[in-house]
Amino acid sequence: MSGMQLTQTYTQLPEVFYAPVDPTPVDRPTPIVINDALAETLGLDPHWLHSEAGLAVLSGQTTLPQTQPIAMAYAGHQFGHWAGVLGDGRALLLGEQQDPQGQRFDIQLKGAGPTPFSRNGDGRSSIGPVVREYLGCEAMAALGIPTTRALAAIATGECVQRDRQEPGGILCRVAKSHVRIGTFEFIARQNDPESVQALLSHVLSRHHPEWVGHDQAALCWFEHVIELTAALVARWMEVGFIHGVMNTDNCSVVGETIDYGPFGMLDAFIPDQVYSSIDRQGRYAYNQQPAVAAWNLARLGECLLPLLADETEAGIEIATAALNRFPSIFKHHFERGITEKVGLDPTNAQHTEHAMALLDCMAANDADMTLTFRRLGSLDDQPGPKDESLSVLFDDPSQVDQWLQGWRQCLQSTPLDATSRQAAMNQRNPAFILRNHLAQQAVDAAIDQLDFAPMKRLGALLSRPFEDQPEHADWAGPPRADERVLKTFCGT
Ligand code: AMP
Ligand code: MG
Repeated sequence: MSGMQLTQTYTQLPEVFYAPVDPTPVDRPTPIVINDALAETLGLDPHWLHSEAGLAVLSGQTTLPQTQPIAMAYAGHQFGHWAGVLGDGRALLLGEQQDPQGQRFDIQLKGAGPTPFSRNGDGRSSIGPVVREYLGCEAMAALGIPTTRALAAIATGECVQRDRQEPGGILCRVAKSHVRIGTFEFIARQNDPESVQALLSHVLSRHHPEWVGHDQAALCWFEHVIELTAALVARWMEVGFIHGVMNTDNCSVVGETIDYGPFGMLDAFIPDQVYSSIDRQGRYAYNQQPAVAAWNLARLGECLLPLLADETEAGIEIATAALNRFPSIFKHHFERGITEKVGLDPTNAQHTEHAMALLDCMAANDADMTLTFRRLGSLDDQPGPKDESLSVLFDDPSQVDQWLQGWRQCLQSTPLDATSRQAAMNQRNPAFILRNHLAQQAVDAAIDQLDFAPMKRLGALLSRPFEDQPEHADWAGPPRADERVLKTFCGT
């Protein structure tokens, strides 16, 4: 364990890919949270992170001697329209940290000052989005869903001007990679197939050295990204996650959830739910996410065309064939996930059909998604008084009672006894999720009073989402009418 010893391999790419930028120091940095557990998995010494030297790096006061921070260039489609060059306008990649297993992770500061990509922005972040992203990504990680992580949240001691003056913050983000579909879109528009090949080679040498030099490397990798993305969106939807702004610049090529802005979590299971204040058409609604992911992957496919075949037509055919598999890959992952969540056998088509019918029943009855799955996990193989804990969640309890009958019939053909099934279901169905109103309470306390106690309490709770924590029963359920959050904001 030691301080950060970063390398910067992205700078081996041509200069068009990035801009070297040092962070801009801030007034009075103070740590809000340092993620000791994550630090240890990365091989970083938590004591160092808590030291003056560590804080200086996490807040952008100093840079490490051997590595030049960079802002990465990318472009993207936003809400279905070409948005041109975007790039890291308020984020800097410090470099890569190698964990004890030899896996490399990007260490990035978000909110560390302006870059050549800042356009009219200030390169800074309000403390509110820092708290939201910290809680959001760490909650997803605790649920076992691939995501970027948060190593630290820092208060800058400065104010940023948004609709009002708000305290500033910096998030230290950790990712397997910050390459996005938008990174490929940026490079593909340089009209230089060699640059696309260089980016692909960079990604392959970092994540798939086995494919370096392979004559079908681009196709192998494209199919792999399709698989990872389909699996990721299925995992999101199993827990009711709505990303909120699935633009191609917010879509990772390594299958991690990235860029937590106006995301939200379902309370009641409403398939076309939208929370994001900027998503006026519902393009990124809960149930649109698979289609949007496929659309984004098609944009990636376009960038890879010159690497897929010599002739464009042939490349299009290859890419289309790969993309056409997305719906069935997604369906496979999602149906398997839902079937496992209800304790049935995903290899049995009848079980899967019955499991999926629960979603329709929840949608028709405004049932809370998280509580439905969690409470189902405590029911016995025979009907009993506990059934009511579930049926009260449904507008028309008789509908779920009927579903339960079919469920119990299916249970007869599963190998697990009730105790093992219940234990397995409790590992699949969280008791606690980052409900929108809870996130909002933590954000409000941070912005209004620089009070981070609610954030820390919530973070601790959500680090153990599968454990019943009776002392926090208040945080298990949906909001009261006066706590309800109807819109989420990116806040920047
Ligand atoms: P996001 O909404 O975080 O996905 O960001 C979209 C684009 O806007 C990216 O290019 C960001 O770097 C840029 N951006 C967002 N907020 C700021 C800011 N405060 N200053 C500069 N650029 C920003
Ligand atoms: Mg973004």
